[in-house]
Amino acid sequence: MKRIVAAALTLVVSFSLLTACGQGDETTGEVLIVGTNAEFPPFEYIGDSGEPEGFDIALINAIADKLGMEIQIENLEFASLVGAIGTKIDVAIAGMTIEEERLEMVDFSNPYYEALQYVIVPAGSDIATAADLEGKTIGVQLGTTGDFIVQDEIAGATPAQFNKPVDAVNDLLNGRVDCVILDQNPAQVFADQYSDELVALDGTQFGFAMEYYAIALPKGDTELADQINGALKEIIEDGTFDELVQTYIEQ
Ligand code: GLN
Repeated sequence: MKRIVAAALTLVVSFSLLTACGQGDETTGEVLIVGTNAEFPPFEYIGDSGEPEGFDIALINAIADKLGMEIQIENLEFASLVGAIGTKIDVAIAGMTIEEERLEMVDFSNPYYEALQYVIVPAGSDIATAADLEGKTIGVQLGTTGDFIVQDEIAGATPAQFNKPVDAVNDLLNGRVDCVILDQNPAQVFADQYSDELVALDGTQFGFAMEYYAIALPKGDTELADQINGALKEIIEDGTFDELVQTYIEQ
């Protein structure tokens, strides 16, 4: 299923064009410190190299390339990323949804991916609708939109919060939670790893809203925002973005 927000992205022309010109492969020597949380396949995970890899890592590398910048990746807990912008890190890329509370602390780039929360259940579970989630113990990654949904939108549900989604999935396998709410692509990766035991259910059947991933940026740094949006636009237009989707997400 293609969930790319091409339509939304093509609307965003504005300043991007100004900054997109004339950027090549030569580096300015400027280092962009990028926070991520490499627990969220296929967007970011620890690869065979022992370093963070995945769609987001490749995307931010392509953006930095366009801008002639060097990248330094910092692998942090997801819940600490927004607060670390401006101190420990310059920007964060982590399958991060544009979200109201976060917008009070950071700005976001233009969106680059459309996403939806999925519900991972044990095979044969009778959980199928929003009403079935009420009163359940639901595994989530701490500080994520899945966590917020459980806390704010599901009556009587208790979030079981983990720093790593894989730990929520392990508790589901051990029967300590009733289900796990997690973004579609990682939910499918984890459910596929345990395809005899787990199933990932489409969040539309639970009425969850669409979400949009973007790069989190320091509040008010319009120069950096324009540079990143300009590079992102070029990467979409020259086909690099689709190549990365094929390599990391739809392979
Ligand atoms: N998209 C979700 C959020 O922004 C989860 C992101 C993640 O766990 N890396 O909260």
